[in-house]
Amino acid sequence: MILPVCVYGHPVLRKVASEITPEYPDLKLLIENMFDTMRKADGVGLAAPQVGYSIRLFVIDATSAASEEKPDLYDFKKIFINPQILSYSGEEWTYNEGCLSLPEIREDVDRPSVIKLRYCNENFDVFEEEFDGIRARIIQHEYDHIEGKLFIDKLNPIRRRLIASKLKQISKGKITPAYKTKVV
Ligand code: ZN
Repeated sequence: MILPVCVYGHPVLRKVASEITPEYPDLKLLIENMFDTMRKADGVGLAAPQVGYSIRLFVIDATSAASEEKPDLYDFKKIFINPQILSYSGEEWTYNEGCLSLPEIREDVDRPSVIKLRYCNENFDVFEEEFDGIRARIIQHEYDHIEGKLFIDKLNPIRRRLIASKLKQISKGKITPAYKTKVV
């Protein structure tokens, strides 16, 4: 089932999300719906708050974005439950990011290149794994969502000012992408 995507202005995007247990109701169905919603909207990642659930869960399917320059993405399809970034390392690098909750906005964002992450899969098995490059980038972007943050928070004040009117339009429901959205 396709779920509406909460866009900038929706309060759920600014909440710090809660951890979940294996007893969380209809978790398998929610995960399935999140994959459907992400694919329909041509996204490579989707965090639960973006579909209105303030829980620590995000899904990634970046296989469609794989290429010779991004071979790391050919098999990058994963579910992350209760993730925790244990450490950041490596040099910061810049990448032009977009977000389904910020339609029509793309901006250069600096992030560290390597992260160490503890997370559970859909069976609540615990993993500790290091990610780098574009995979670490996507995870950090989704991780921000469960912390109530958005990539625009990382922009300098000048860039922020330049996108202010667009943000206002999004929060008033005046920007309508090809996928279903909601502001409240
Ligand atoms: Zn996003």
